[in-house]
Amino acid sequence: MSRPRRAAPLLPAPFDAGLEREYAAVRNAARARWFTPTALLGLACFDAYALVDLALAPQVLALSLTLRLAVVTPVVLLGLWWRARRLRERPAAGIDGPFVTAAAALVVLVLALVQHSAPGALGGAYFAGSFVVVVFFGTMLRNDVRWSATCLVTMLAAFAWGQNLVGAEAGATAVAALLAVAVSGAFGLVTAATVERGDRARFTARRRERELAAERERLLAALAEAAVRDELTGLLNRRGLLERAPLHRPVGVLVLDVDHFKAYNDRFGHPQGDRCLALVAATLAAHARPGDVVARLGGEEFVVLLDADGDRDGDGDEVLAAGERLRAAVRDLAVPAGDGRVVTVSVGAATGPWESALGTADQALYAAKAAGRDTVVRQGVAA
Ligand code: GH3
Ligand code: MG
Ligand code: MG
Repeated sequence: MSRPRRAAPLLPAPFDAGLEREYAAVRNAARARWFTPTALLGLACFDAYALVDLALAPQVLALSLTLRLAVVTPVVLLGLWWRARRLRERPAAGIDGPFVTAAAALVVLVLALVQHSAPGALGGAYFAGSFVVVVFFGTMLRNDVRWSATCLVTMLAAFAWGQNLVGAEAGATAVAALLAVAVSGAFGLVTAATVERGDRARFTARRRERELAAERERLLAALAEAAVRDELTGLLNRRGLLERAPLHRPVGVLVLDVDHFKAYNDRFGHPQGDRCLALVAATLAAHARPGDVVARLGGEEFVVLLDADGDRDGDGDEVLAAGERLRAAVRDLAVPAGDGRVVTVSVGAATGPWESALGTADQALYAAKAAGRDTVVRQGVAA
């Protein structure tokens, strides 16, 4: 039996601490574009509201202008400057809630004081203005829902305190005003909760998208790497060799083949044969020079391109010397191969455009086998 689905909670669920910090930093970065301009616009509107005083009750204009321009404006500007500086230092700092709440309390307090000094027509105008203030602080500045609630309660308390400060009577109008502000604030809270839930869901989805994209990149890189790697030895495989071969210049090529490897396998078993191949591969890689490309062509056959990345094509003697160095390194491993022998390689060497040099080095390898193995043979190639 399926359980009934639980209704989504009104309050958006917070993330755990680390993720919450990340969310705060992302949210603050998004707010950085519009928060200060919106707050400045709000402040300008608040100051311009003095025109209402001028029109409806010139007797409070002096008080109103003083409170707006000498108290609220510098405090808010200072707060905005401090906020911007703090966020530059700590992008995840949760300072907007307290900042918006303090500013809202100050504005409401000023409204209560001015309104009381000029009741009547101005009282109605201020009553309407206070709705705008509640909507502005509750929704325009997009606080998270917990701070929106704190901000609303603080605004109501500041209004009540302001009324009390000037000795206004708690008449029916004041109670109605408070109630109306509380109800419009409650709608603002529901909006804030919906917006925040959407923000959090978008943040989670984008994060997941980024994780999936990074995972896809990792898998593609691993796949691309696996496509050019030989699993047993970790060397490049034939495809990897093709990718690295220089196409437009001659190159020194060595083809190396483990001697009597079938007999080795027959004697010690295939798994030991694998270990032996891995050891030979590691030895070739360790004794190759920087810039050389070492690859396993297949079976017990390896190819070394000398200085594949550089501009030296390597003369015949140099290629021969490199082949000799690698042949000796494998022999020096002294891996017992039975009957008093050790594991060795035969080497065919050539220089020239890489594809023809590979064929020629392969023929030279046959010659090295025919010459008794554990030896290096070079054949020239016409470029
Ligand atoms: P030669 O000196 O002429 O090269 O003789 P050989 O025995 O080395 O040459 P042959 O081509 O007859 O045998 C190659 C052997 O290499 C046969 C095959 O079983 C073995 N071999 C190829 N690939 C692998 C591998 O991945 N692991 C192991 N253990 N053996 C392999
Ligand atoms: Mg062999
Ligand atoms: Mg072979």
